[in-house]
Amino acid sequence: MALTPLPEALERILATAVAVPEQEQISLGTAMNRYCAGVVHADIAVPPADNSAMDGYAVASGDVPGTLVVSQRAPAGTAPTPLVAGTAARIFTGAEIPAGADAVILQEDATVESDRVSLPGARPGQHIRRRGDDIQPGDQLVAQGQRLRPQDIGLLASVGIDTVLVFAPLSVAVLTTGDELREPGSGELGPGQIFNSNRLSLAAQIRSLGMTVVDMGNLPDDPRQIGEALEHAAEAADCVVTAGGVSVGEEDHVRGQIEERGALDIWKLAIKPGKPLAFGQVCGTPIFGLPGNPVSAFVTFALVAKPWLIRRQGGCAVPSPRFPVRAGFALPRPGTRQEFLRVRLSGSGEAMRANLTGSQSSAVLTSLSEADGVAVIAPGKTVAEGDWLEVIPLSAL
Ligand code: AMP
Ligand code: MG
Repeated sequence: MALTPLPEALERILATAVAVPEQEQISLGTAMNRYCAGVVHADIAVPPADNSAMDGYAVASGDVPGTLVVSQRAPAGTAPTPLVAGTAARIFTGAEIPAGADAVILQEDATVESDRVSLPGARPGQHIRRRGDDIQPGDQLVAQGQRLRPQDIGLLASVGIDTVLVFAPLSVAVLTTGDELREPGSGELGPGQIFNSNRLSLAAQIRSLGMTVVDMGNLPDDPRQIGEALEHAAEAADCVVTAGGVSVGEEDHVRGQIEERGALDIWKLAIKPGKPLAFGQVCGTPIFGLPGNPVSAFVTFALVAKPWLIRRQGGCAVPSPRFPVRAGFALPRPGTRQEFLRVRLSGSGEAMRANLTGSQSSAVLTSLSEADGVAVIAPGKTVAEGDWLEVIPLSAL
Protein backbone atom coordinates (compact mmCIF):
# COMPACT_ATOMS: atom_id res chain seq x y z
CA MET A 1 0.00 0.00 0.00
CA ALA A 2 1.31 3.45 -0.91
CA LEU A 3 2.11 5.84 1.93
CA THR A 4 -0.43 8.66 2.28
CA PRO A 5 0.93 12.15 3.00
CA LEU A 6 -0.43 13.61 6.23
CA PRO A 7 -2.30 16.60 4.68
CA GLU A 8 -4.20 14.29 2.32
CA ALA A 9 -5.11 11.83 5.08
CA LEU A 10 -6.15 14.70 7.35
CA GLU A 11 -8.34 16.27 4.70
CA ARG A 12 -10.21 13.01 4.14
CA ILE A 13 -10.52 12.19 7.83
CA LEU A 14 -11.56 15.73 8.85
CA ALA A 15 -14.27 15.79 6.17
CA THR A 16 -16.14 13.21 8.26
CA ALA A 17 -16.15 15.28 11.48
CA VAL A 18 -19.57 16.85 12.02
CA ALA A 19 -19.91 19.06 15.09
CA VAL A 20 -22.18 17.91 17.94
CA PRO A 21 -24.92 20.43 18.58
CA GLU A 22 -25.50 19.90 22.33
CA GLN A 23 -24.64 22.88 24.48
CA GLU A 24 -24.61 23.59 28.18
CA GLN A 25 -24.31 26.64 30.38
CA ILE A 26 -21.59 26.03 32.96
CA SER A 27 -19.88 28.04 35.64
CA LEU A 28 -16.77 29.89 34.48
CA GLY A 29 -14.71 28.20 37.19
CA THR A 30 -15.21 24.80 35.54
CA ALA A 31 -14.89 25.99 31.93
CA MET A 32 -11.15 25.40 31.48
CA ASN A 33 -10.41 23.67 28.12
CA ARG A 34 -14.07 23.69 27.08
CA TYR A 35 -15.19 25.04 23.70
CA CYS A 36 -17.44 28.12 23.52
CA ALA A 37 -20.79 27.50 21.84
CA GLY A 38 -21.24 31.15 20.93
CA VAL A 39 -19.53 34.50 20.70
CA VAL A 40 -19.29 36.36 24.01
CA HIS A 41 -19.39 40.17 24.14
CA ALA A 42 -18.62 42.55 26.99
CA ASP A 43 -21.43 44.66 28.39
CA ILE A 44 -19.26 46.86 30.58
CA ALA A 45 -16.04 48.81 30.11
CA VAL A 46 -12.76 47.62 31.65
CA PRO A 47 -11.50 49.41 33.56
CA PRO A 48 -14.93 50.77 34.54
CA ALA A 49 -13.44 54.15 35.52
CA ASP A 50 -10.23 56.13 35.11
CA ASN A 51 -7.82 54.90 37.77
CA SER A 52 -4.27 55.27 38.94
CA ALA A 53 -1.55 53.00 37.52
CA MET A 54 0.81 53.93 40.39
CA ASP A 55 1.06 54.86 44.05
CA GLY A 56 1.50 58.63 44.25
CA TYR A 57 -0.39 61.94 44.05
CA ALA A 58 -3.29 62.86 41.75
CA VAL A 59 -3.19 66.49 40.61
CA ALA A 60 -4.39 68.89 37.95
CA SER A 61 -1.32 68.99 35.69
CA GLY A 62 -1.57 72.80 35.47
CA ASP A 63 -0.91 73.06 39.24
CA VAL A 64 2.54 71.47 39.12
CA PRO A 65 5.44 71.87 39.58
CA GLY A 66 4.68 73.27 43.00
CA THR A 67 3.97 72.58 46.65
CA LEU A 68 0.34 71.57 47.25
CA VAL A 69 -1.84 70.76 50.25
CA VAL A 70 -2.82 67.08 50.37
CA SER A 71 -6.61 67.39 50.57
CA GLN A 72 -7.72 63.74 50.51
CA ARG A 73 -6.56 60.13 50.59
CA ALA A 74 -7.88 57.79 47.85
CA PRO A 75 -7.12 54.09 48.35
CA ALA A 76 -8.36 51.46 45.83
CA GLY A 77 -11.98 50.45 46.35
CA THR A 78 -13.24 53.86 47.55
CA ALA A 79 -15.09 56.64 45.75
CA PRO A 80 -12.92 59.80 45.81
CA THR A 81 -14.47 63.23 46.18
CA PRO A 82 -13.79 65.86 43.47
CA LEU A 83 -10.32 67.33 43.84
CA VAL A 84 -10.29 70.65 45.71
CA ALA A 85 -8.78 73.12 43.21
CA GLY A 86 -5.07 73.74 43.73
CA THR A 87 -4.52 70.64 45.96
CA ALA A 88 -3.22 67.09 45.54
CA ALA A 89 -4.89 63.78 46.45
CA ARG A 90 -2.80 60.97 47.93
CA ILE A 91 -3.68 58.06 45.62
CA PHE A 92 -2.86 54.34 45.36
CA THR A 93 -2.70 51.88 42.44
CA GLY A 94 -6.17 50.95 41.22
CA ALA A 95 -7.94 53.86 42.96
CA GLU A 96 -10.35 55.98 40.93
CA ILE A 97 -9.00 59.35 39.80
CA PRO A 98 -10.84 62.21 41.58
CA ALA A 99 -12.79 64.49 39.22
CA GLY A 100 -10.61 67.49 38.40
CA ALA A 101 -7.31 65.56 38.50
CA ASP A 102 -5.67 64.65 35.18
CA ALA A 103 -2.27 63.25 36.17
CA VAL A 104 -0.60 61.08 38.78
CA ILE A 105 2.89 61.78 40.06
CA LEU A 106 4.94 58.89 41.49
CA GLN A 107 5.38 58.95 45.26
CA GLU A 108 9.13 58.44 44.63
CA ASP A 109 9.20 61.88 42.95
CA ALA A 110 7.33 63.64 45.78
CA THR A 111 8.73 65.32 48.89
CA VAL A 112 6.30 65.38 51.84
CA GLU A 113 6.41 68.32 54.27
CA SER A 114 3.72 67.80 57.00
CA ASP A 115 0.35 68.34 55.22
CA ARG A 116 1.94 69.49 51.97
CA VAL A 117 3.82 67.84 49.17
CA SER A 118 6.34 69.22 46.68
CA LEU A 119 5.76 67.80 43.23
CA PRO A 120 7.54 68.01 39.87
CA GLY A 121 5.71 68.87 36.63
CA ALA A 122 3.38 66.33 35.03
CA ARG A 123 2.02 65.67 31.58
CA PRO A 124 -1.81 65.35 31.28
CA GLY A 125 -2.89 61.71 31.46
CA GLN A 126 0.35 60.58 33.08
CA HIS A 127 0.03 57.24 34.98
CA ILE A 128 -3.73 57.14 34.45
CA ARG A 129 -5.46 53.99 33.13
CA ARG A 130 -8.47 55.27 31.17
CA ARG A 131 -11.98 53.86 31.42
CA GLY A 132 -12.38 51.27 28.64
CA ASP A 133 -8.64 51.16 27.79
CA ASP A 134 -8.79 47.36 27.89
CA ILE A 135 -12.39 46.59 26.89
CA GLN A 136 -15.28 48.70 25.56
CA PRO A 137 -18.92 47.66 26.01
CA GLY A 138 -19.83 45.51 22.97
CA ASP A 139 -16.28 44.25 22.33
CA GLN A 140 -16.01 40.56 21.40
CA LEU A 141 -14.18 38.62 24.10
CA VAL A 142 -14.18 35.06 22.76
CA ALA A 143 -15.19 33.48 19.46
CA GLN A 144 -17.52 30.55 18.86
CA GLY A 145 -15.52 27.33 18.95
CA GLN A 146 -12.67 28.87 20.90
CA ARG A 147 -11.10 26.69 23.58
CA LEU A 148 -11.14 28.45 26.92
CA ARG A 149 -7.65 28.85 28.34
CA PRO A 150 -6.81 30.35 31.73
CA GLN A 151 -6.26 33.78 30.14
CA ASP A 152 -9.69 33.66 28.44
CA ILE A 153 -11.33 32.69 31.71
CA GLY A 154 -9.65 35.71 33.32
CA LEU A 155 -10.86 37.95 30.48
CA LEU A 156 -14.49 36.79 30.87
CA ALA A 157 -14.29 37.18 34.64
CA SER A 158 -12.98 40.74 34.20
CA VAL A 159 -16.34 41.83 32.76
CA GLY A 160 -18.29 40.04 35.50
CA ILE A 161 -19.30 36.94 33.54
CA ASP A 162 -19.73 33.90 35.79
CA THR A 163 -21.27 31.32 33.45
CA VAL A 164 -20.52 30.46 29.84
CA LEU A 165 -22.30 28.52 27.08
CA VAL A 166 -20.07 25.67 25.90
CA PHE A 167 -20.45 22.54 23.79
CA ALA A 168 -21.21 19.41 25.78
CA PRO A 169 -17.97 17.46 26.10
CA LEU A 170 -17.41 14.56 23.74
CA SER A 171 -16.97 11.20 25.41
CA VAL A 172 -14.04 9.24 24.03
CA ALA A 173 -13.51 5.55 24.81
CA VAL A 174 -9.90 4.45 25.22
CA LEU A 175 -8.95 0.83 24.73
CA THR A 176 -5.49 -0.67 24.55
CA THR A 177 -4.56 -4.16 23.41
CA GLY A 178 -1.65 -6.47 24.08
CA ASP A 179 -0.99 -9.71 25.96
CA GLU A 180 2.29 -8.20 27.12
CA LEU A 181 0.73 -5.22 28.90
CA ARG A 182 0.37 -4.84 32.65
CA GLU A 183 -1.23 -1.90 34.40
CA PRO A 184 1.00 0.31 36.56
CA GLY A 185 0.32 -0.57 40.19
CA SER A 186 -0.73 -4.16 39.43
CA GLY A 187 2.50 -5.69 40.73
CA GLU A 188 5.85 -6.57 39.25
CA LEU A 189 6.36 -7.43 35.60
CA GLY A 190 6.47 -11.10 34.64
CA PRO A 191 8.59 -12.47 31.77
CA GLY A 192 7.81 -10.75 28.47
CA GLN A 193 5.63 -8.09 30.08
CA ILE A 194 5.81 -4.29 29.93
CA PHE A 195 3.70 -1.61 31.59
CA ASN A 196 0.80 -0.10 29.69
CA SER A 197 1.74 3.52 29.04
CA ASN A 198 -0.66 4.35 26.20
CA ARG A 199 -3.84 3.92 28.21
CA LEU A 200 -3.02 6.69 30.69
CA SER A 201 -1.13 8.86 28.20
CA LEU A 202 -4.00 8.87 25.69
CA ALA A 203 -6.55 9.46 28.45
CA ALA A 204 -4.49 12.47 29.59
CA GLN A 205 -4.36 13.85 26.05
CA ILE A 206 -8.15 13.49 25.74
CA ARG A 207 -8.81 15.13 29.11
CA SER A 208 -6.55 18.03 28.20
CA LEU A 209 -8.99 18.70 25.32
CA GLY A 210 -11.80 19.07 27.86
CA MET A 211 -13.35 15.76 26.78
CA THR A 212 -14.54 12.84 28.88
CA VAL A 213 -12.68 9.53 28.90
CA VAL A 214 -14.51 6.21 28.95
CA ASP A 215 -11.77 3.87 30.13
CA MET A 216 -12.20 0.43 28.55
CA GLY A 217 -8.92 -0.89 30.00
CA ASN A 218 -6.56 -3.25 28.22
CA LEU A 219 -7.63 -6.27 26.16
CA PRO A 220 -5.64 -9.44 25.53
CA ASP A 221 -4.80 -10.24 21.92
CA ASP A 222 -7.97 -12.25 21.52
CA PRO A 223 -10.29 -11.40 18.62
CA ARG A 224 -13.53 -12.27 20.43
CA GLN A 225 -12.75 -10.21 23.53
CA ILE A 226 -11.49 -7.28 21.44
CA GLY A 227 -14.62 -7.41 19.27
CA GLU A 228 -16.95 -7.37 22.28
CA ALA A 229 -15.02 -4.55 23.92
CA LEU A 230 -15.18 -2.50 20.70
CA GLU A 231 -18.96 -2.94 20.64
CA HIS A 232 -19.25 -1.79 24.26
CA ALA A 233 -16.96 1.14 23.58
CA ALA A 234 -18.98 2.15 20.52
CA GLU A 235 -22.16 2.14 22.58
CA ALA A 236 -20.66 4.03 25.51
CA ALA A 237 -18.89 6.88 23.73
CA ASP A 238 -19.04 9.36 20.83
CA CYS A 239 -15.70 8.14 19.51
CA VAL A 240 -13.35 5.22 20.17
CA VAL A 241 -9.56 5.45 20.32
CA THR A 242 -7.53 2.24 20.44
CA ALA A 243 -3.78 1.68 20.62
CA GLY A 244 -2.01 -1.37 19.25
CA GLY A 245 -3.12 -4.25 17.09
CA VAL A 246 -3.63 -2.31 13.84
CA SER A 247 -0.48 -3.50 12.12
CA VAL A 248 -0.08 -6.56 9.91
CA GLY A 249 1.07 -9.09 12.56
CA GLU A 250 -0.95 -12.23 13.28
CA GLU A 251 -1.72 -10.91 16.77
CA ASP A 252 -3.07 -7.60 15.42
CA HIS A 253 -6.80 -8.21 15.84
CA VAL A 254 -8.15 -4.68 16.18
CA ARG A 255 -8.36 -4.01 12.45
CA GLY A 256 -10.13 -7.32 11.73
CA GLN A 257 -12.67 -6.75 14.49
CA ILE A 258 -13.44 -3.23 13.28
CA GLU A 259 -13.99 -4.58 9.78
CA GLU A 260 -16.37 -7.24 11.14
CA ARG A 261 -18.45 -4.71 13.05
CA GLY A 262 -18.16 -1.66 10.85
CA ALA A 263 -15.87 -0.29 8.21
CA LEU A 264 -12.24 0.58 8.13
CA ASP A 265 -9.74 2.64 6.20
CA ILE A 266 -6.17 1.71 6.96
CA TRP A 267 -3.74 4.46 6.31
CA LYS A 268 -0.07 3.98 5.93
CA LEU A 269 0.73 7.55 6.80
CA ALA A 270 3.88 9.01 5.29
CA ILE A 271 5.04 10.21 8.71
CA LYS A 272 7.65 9.04 11.17
CA PRO A 273 6.86 8.07 13.84
CA GLY A 274 3.37 7.05 13.03
CA LYS A 275 2.37 4.54 10.41
CA PRO A 276 -0.01 2.66 10.38
CA LEU A 277 -3.25 4.32 11.44
CA ALA A 278 -6.77 2.96 11.13
CA PHE A 279 -9.83 5.18 10.82
CA GLY A 280 -13.42 4.11 10.33
CA GLN A 281 -16.49 3.22 12.33
CA VAL A 282 -17.49 0.38 14.59
CA CYS A 283 -21.23 -0.16 15.12
CA GLY A 284 -21.69 3.34 13.65
CA THR A 285 -19.26 5.06 16.06
CA PRO A 286 -16.13 6.67 14.62
CA ILE A 287 -12.91 4.94 15.64
CA PHE A 288 -9.20 5.75 15.50
CA GLY A 289 -6.93 2.72 15.66
CA LEU A 290 -3.57 4.14 16.64
CA PRO A 291 -0.29 2.25 16.45
CA GLY A 292 0.92 0.63 19.70
CA ASN A 293 4.40 2.08 19.97
CA PRO A 294 3.99 4.79 22.60
CA VAL A 295 5.55 7.68 20.65
CA SER A 296 3.61 6.70 17.52
CA ALA A 297 0.39 6.58 19.53
CA PHE A 298 1.10 10.00 21.04
CA VAL A 299 2.07 11.66 17.75
CA THR A 300 -0.77 10.18 15.65
CA PHE A 301 -3.25 11.15 18.34
CA ALA A 302 -1.93 14.73 18.32
CA LEU A 303 -1.66 15.08 14.54
CA VAL A 304 -4.77 13.24 13.37
CA ALA A 305 -7.21 12.28 16.13
CA LYS A 306 -7.02 15.59 17.99
CA PRO A 307 -8.03 17.88 15.10
CA TRP A 308 -10.88 15.51 14.28
CA LEU A 309 -12.09 15.41 17.90
CA ILE A 310 -11.91 19.21 18.22
CA ARG A 311 -13.92 19.72 15.04
CA ARG A 312 -16.48 17.11 16.11
CA GLN A 313 -16.68 18.91 19.45
CA GLY A 314 -17.62 22.16 17.72
CA GLY A 315 -14.24 23.73 18.33
CA CYS A 316 -11.96 25.55 15.94
CA ALA A 317 -8.77 23.55 15.50
CA VAL A 318 -6.03 26.16 15.38
CA PRO A 319 -3.03 25.09 13.27
CA SER A 320 0.06 24.51 15.42
CA PRO A 321 2.54 27.38 15.16
CA ARG A 322 5.94 26.52 13.70
CA PHE A 323 9.04 28.43 14.69
CA PRO A 324 12.31 28.66 12.75
CA VAL A 325 15.22 27.34 14.84
CA ARG A 326 18.71 26.35 13.69
CA ALA A 327 19.67 22.68 13.94
CA GLY A 328 22.26 21.74 16.54
CA PHE A 329 22.60 18.33 14.93
CA ALA A 330 23.04 16.74 11.52
CA LEU A 331 20.81 14.27 9.73
CA PRO A 332 22.92 13.10 6.83
CA ARG A 333 20.56 10.43 5.46
CA PRO A 334 17.26 11.54 3.93
CA GLY A 335 14.06 9.71 4.92
CA THR A 336 11.10 8.76 2.75
CA ARG A 337 8.50 10.01 5.23
CA GLN A 338 7.82 13.39 6.85
CA GLU A 339 9.71 13.12 10.14
CA PHE A 340 8.86 14.59 13.51
CA LEU A 341 12.11 14.71 15.46
CA ARG A 342 12.01 15.20 19.21
CA VAL A 343 14.15 18.25 20.04
CA ARG A 344 15.07 20.39 22.98
CA LEU A 345 15.83 24.09 22.55
CA SER A 346 18.90 25.70 24.06
CA GLY A 347 20.45 29.15 23.89
CA SER A 348 18.62 32.27 22.82
CA GLY A 349 18.43 34.65 19.87
CA GLU A 350 21.01 33.92 17.17
CA ALA A 351 22.55 31.16 19.30
CA MET A 352 19.32 29.21 19.77
CA ARG A 353 19.65 25.59 18.65
CA ALA A 354 17.35 22.58 18.43
CA ASN A 355 19.10 19.41 19.59
CA LEU A 356 17.82 15.86 19.43
CA THR A 357 16.77 14.63 22.86
CA GLY A 358 18.06 11.13 22.24
CA SER A 359 16.90 8.00 20.47
CA GLN A 360 14.17 8.74 17.94
CA SER A 361 12.78 5.20 18.17
CA SER A 362 8.98 5.17 18.33
CA ALA A 363 9.25 3.00 21.46
CA VAL A 364 11.34 5.54 23.41
CA LEU A 365 9.28 7.84 25.62
CA THR A 366 12.18 9.50 27.47
CA SER A 367 13.16 11.48 24.37
CA LEU A 368 9.53 12.65 24.02
CA SER A 369 9.27 13.61 27.67
CA GLU A 370 12.55 15.58 27.46
CA ALA A 371 11.54 17.38 24.25
CA ASP A 372 10.36 20.99 24.02
CA GLY A 373 9.05 20.38 20.54
CA VAL A 374 9.25 18.41 17.33
CA ALA A 375 11.27 19.48 14.31
CA VAL A 376 9.42 18.77 11.08
CA ILE A 377 11.68 17.34 8.36
CA ALA A 378 10.29 16.96 4.83
CA PRO A 379 10.76 13.64 3.02
CA GLY A 380 14.03 13.49 1.10
CA LYS A 381 15.61 16.30 3.14
CA THR A 382 18.90 16.07 4.96
CA VAL A 383 19.92 18.38 7.79
CA ALA A 384 23.32 19.96 8.36
CA GLU A 385 24.25 21.63 11.63
CA GLY A 386 23.10 25.25 11.52
CA ASP A 387 20.30 24.67 8.97
CA TRP A 388 16.98 26.33 9.67
CA LEU A 389 14.34 23.88 10.93
CA GLU A 390 10.64 24.28 11.59
CA VAL A 391 9.85 23.42 15.21
CA ILE A 392 6.35 22.88 16.62
CA PRO A 393 6.26 23.37 20.40
CA LEU A 394 5.01 20.18 22.06
CA SER A 395 2.54 22.30 24.02
CA ALA A 396 0.90 23.23 20.69
CA LEU A 397 0.91 19.74 19.20
P1 AMP B 1 1.38 -3.29 18.26
O1 AMP B 1 0.94 -2.06 17.53
O2 AMP B 1 0.30 -3.91 19.07
O3 AMP B 1 2.04 -4.24 17.31
O4 AMP B 1 2.50 -2.82 19.29
C1 AMP B 1 3.71 -2.23 18.82
C2 AMP B 1 4.68 -2.06 19.98
O5 AMP B 1 4.14 -1.17 20.93
C3 AMP B 1 4.97 -3.33 20.75
O6 AMP B 1 6.33 -3.32 21.14
C4 AMP B 1 4.05 -3.23 21.97
O7 AMP B 1 4.56 -3.97 23.06
C5 AMP B 1 4.06 -1.77 22.23
N1 AMP B 1 2.80 -1.35 22.85
C6 AMP B 1 1.58 -1.61 22.34
N2 AMP B 1 0.61 -1.10 23.14
C7 AMP B 1 1.26 -0.50 24.17
C8 AMP B 1 0.81 0.19 25.33
N3 AMP B 1 -0.49 0.36 25.55
N4 AMP B 1 1.73 0.66 26.19
C9 AMP B 1 3.06 0.48 25.94
N5 AMP B 1 3.53 -0.16 24.86
C10 AMP B 1 2.65 -0.67 23.98
MG1 MG C 1 0.10 -5.63 20.14
